Amino acid sequence: GLGQPPAERWTHSVCAYCGVGCEIEVGTAADAIVSVRPVLDAPVNKGHLCAKGRNGHAYERSPERVRQPLLRQEDGQWQASGWSQALDAVAQRLRRVIDTHGPDAVGVLGSARATNEDNYLVQKFARLVIGTHNVDCCARVCHTPSAAAMKMMLGTGAATNSFDDIELARCFLIVGANPSESHPVVGARIKQRLLRGAAQAIVIDPRRTELARQARLHLALRPGTNVPLLNAMAHVIVEEGLFDAGFVAARVEGLEALRSFLQAWTPERAAAICGVPAAQIREAARLYAGSGPAMCLHGLGVTEHSQGTEGVMCLINLALLTGNLGRRGAGINPLRGQNNVQGAALMGCEPGTLTGSQSLEASRARFEAAWQAPLPHNRGLNLLEMMDAAEAGRLKALYVVGFDIDLSLAHQAATRSALRKLDLLVVQDLFLNETARQADVFLPAASSFEKEGSFMNAERRVQRVRRSLPPLGEARPDWQILCELAAAMGLGEHFNYADAESIWNEVRAVWPDGAGLSYARLGRGGLLWPCRDEADPGQAVLHTEGFANGPTATLRVVDYRPSAERTDAEFPFLLSTGRNLYQFNAGTMSGRGPLSDLRATDTLDMNPADAARLAFADGELLQLRSRHGCAELPLRISGQVQPGQLFASFHDPAVALNRVTSPERDSIVQAPEYKLTAAQVARAGQA
Ligand code: SF4
Repeated sequence: GLGQPPAERWTHSVCAYCGVGCEIEVGTAADAIVSVRPVLDAPVNKGHLCAKGRNGHAYERSPERVRQPLLRQEDGQWQASGWSQALDAVAQRLRRVIDTHGPDAVGVLGSARATNEDNYLVQKFARLVIGTHNVDCCARVCHTPSAAAMKMMLGTGAATNSFDDIELARCFLIVGANPSESHPVVGARIKQRLLRGAAQAIVIDPRRTELARQARLHLALRPGTNVPLLNAMAHVIVEEGLFDAGFVAARVEGLEALRSFLQAWTPERAAAICGVPAAQIREAARLYAGSGPAMCLHGLGVTEHSQGTEGVMCLINLALLTGNLGRRGAGINPLRGQNNVQGAALMGCEPGTLTGSQSLEASRARFEAAWQAPLPHNRGLNLLEMMDAAEAGRLKALYVVGFDIDLSLAHQAATRSALRKLDLLVVQDLFLNETARQADVFLPAASSFEKEGSFMNAERRVQRVRRSLPPLGEARPDWQILCELAAAMGLGEHFNYADAESIWNEVRAVWPDGAGLSYARLGRGGLLWPCRDEADPGQAVLHTEGFANGPTATLRVVDYRPSAERTDAEFPFLLSTGRNLYQFNAGTMSGRGPLSDLRATDTLDMNPADAARLAFADGELLQLRSRHGCAELPLRISGQVQPGQLFASFHDPAVALNRVTSPERDSIVQAPEYKLTAAQVARAGQA
């Protein structure tokens, strides 16, 4: 970086921000990171990096990082402590909760920022040491709807195609995603394709994003109306006979049931709900069906709705009808938000499934044999159910690894109230984030620059993370903290690992689709799973023959149920929330350092016509209020946003945008409805 000494050493690793998973070389000198550069021949980023990957590492040696375990004293103050004292305190207090209220009074949360090895041990700790399936991670609030819909319909809850398929696609269907800001290197690869005229894009998004401007079609729908819009596209494909009859005959069931249901979903009917002209819906359907291979990439604009899982099912219907599955340049591809969110959930930080997304029922015996211990029998709670149980007094202790739930979960008032009711809150993280400020014990974790392990990106690629620096102060890798805590609770013999690689080898032993992914083979570039043995090159495209759960897939009938969030005279705007280019999620990492100078706080984006009507000036501090709470943040006048709609990022703890968001949830997996809150806006101080 600028004004930094030259690097003395370069270490090959993976970017710790988004789910693209760019390979990096980390330059260090005198115990600090001085530079991060892209790996030139990396399969994912091919020599590129975005601003976050290149410049977002100042958090690593930040003076605000916690260097010692902290225990909350009776007077409410933190007291620094040694590791054994802190771990004994946690062990004793967890034991007391388990003895008094049973193991299901404890919840454990894994981290999308931590490695696969860390997360494997998080769920093993919950299931084996605590004795509960109450284990989850932040996938719950982003792409669990994608994983659930894809698992139900196709048998595997992960992207069907690799990023290299971008260069093979003729058409992109980009739904509720803004890769230019949220997945910049993937956004750039798509943009290259469009600029060269090699492919066309259909963007379905309320906002006029960069890719929407470059797309052949931009369907600027009202937030919350994905299902009717996608049903109408399917209507056109079926009614006009645009579907792939050969593919459907050989591999798809349920066409007649879908056809009769879709009869009512004409583009005209959808147009009235979505605010998109019927002619555009027809054109989009024809383009998607007629210019294969067509690659669908979707983001949280699909999943973070009360019909999130069902929205993904509608996308899968389109791909099944048009034969855009099991071939190069096609597929259904959720753009995962965080570096290792795919890995955290897949390692088993999910109440209902074990490592490798294997079902509890079918895999219980395998895991009990591998772990030499019985698995619990009660159904586990997901993150949102844990918060409800805490509020109701049934969940007494929560152990949180690298996840700022206070700032991240929708409807912050409910989160705070639930956290206050806990007897024990333990946070393991780099910084005293907003959740940690309410904790009883804080355990300082090593960053991903300070440990070995692996991440799994959005295309199912597992890549090695390598240590560039020693852990700061007394910080320790997450997996090591869990091993020591297991020992303090008397179960150390089940957590006896010399290093991250020995944990990974246990993962490979219990997860047949990952058995071939040895550290030695992951060397450079990593490998895509399924990869079943050491000779398997890994699989770029899923479902080439049959589907993971059988020879055929079944189309789903999904009816439209409007969200409970409605605009009215008092709350006339529809608010969506999302990420911006320079910041990342709770700002724990990106909020420290040069990225903050580029975008110092969150902004409330409003259409110029609305701003003029309300006589608001650009940059003015506004109060945003919903039926659930209010927050203050500066206005950014933006033609990207449609009249009547608002968009805000959610990175700044001082703004705490989730004070405003709605408590509505996806009806199937309970992801919060971040993309739709009815709101009003006033000048701050005058509300
Ligand atoms: Fe990191 Fe994502 Fe940027 Fe790549 S695109 S450098 S993985 S933040």
